[in-house]
Amino acid sequence: MERRFPPELIEEAHKATIYHEQQILNSSVCTCFYCGYQFDPRTEEELAWIDEGPNKERTLSCPMCTIDCVIGDASAFPVTDSEFILACTEAWFGGISRISDGLPVQKATPILIEVD
Ligand SMILES: [Zn+2]
Repeated sequence: MERRFPPELIEEAHKATIYHEQQILNSSVCTCFYCGYQFDPRTEEELAWIDEGPNKERTLSCPMCTIDCVIGDASAFPVTDSEFILACTEAWFGGISRISDGLPVQKATPILIEVD
C-alpha cells in the first residue's frame, strides 16, 4: 500500500492536538482523531478546555469522548481526510481507538473511578 502520509507528518500532526486554543478557535471544522467526531468549534455547544498551566495555550478535549486529540483545519492538516485520520489514529493509539474499531461516534459517559 502506498503511504500518502509519512511518519514525520503524522508526528507533526500530533503536536497540533495540544496547546492549540487559538488554532481551534480559528478553525471551521475540527476532528477528534480518537472517536472520529467532527464539529464546528464556533457552534459546538460546550468546549471543554484543559488548562495546561502558565505560558501555554489550553488544549481542547473532545466533546464526545473527552480524549485530547482534536485537530482543527486551521492547522493546515487534512483533518477531514479519512485516510489521514486513520493513519494518525493507528499511529497514535496503536490501532486501539473507536475509529480503528469502526465504532460510531458516541457521547462518552464519564466514569467515576474510586481510589482507595
Ligand atoms: Zn472524540
